[in-house]
Amino acid sequence: MEFLETDHQLDHNGKHLNIDVVCGMDVIEEKSKHQSMYLGATYYFCTNACQKHFDNFPERYVGDKA
Ligand SMILES: [Zn+2]
Repeated sequence: MEFLETDHQLDHNGKHLNIDVVCGMDVIEEKSKHQSMYLGATYYFCTNACQKHFDNFPERYVGDKA
């Protein structure tokens, strides 16, 4: 049953798969319980620890990348 999820990731590149901006891991939106809102965008994290880092210093991870 796991193989279906792998296909799903590859099919929808960038749609359901998010990067944990704290540690750089791939995070699947639907599966992640750790998420934060910042400047109107939702960010997903692999663990509660990563989410806490982000909540403390969101500007460090988001920044202005034009
Ligand atoms: Zn993480």
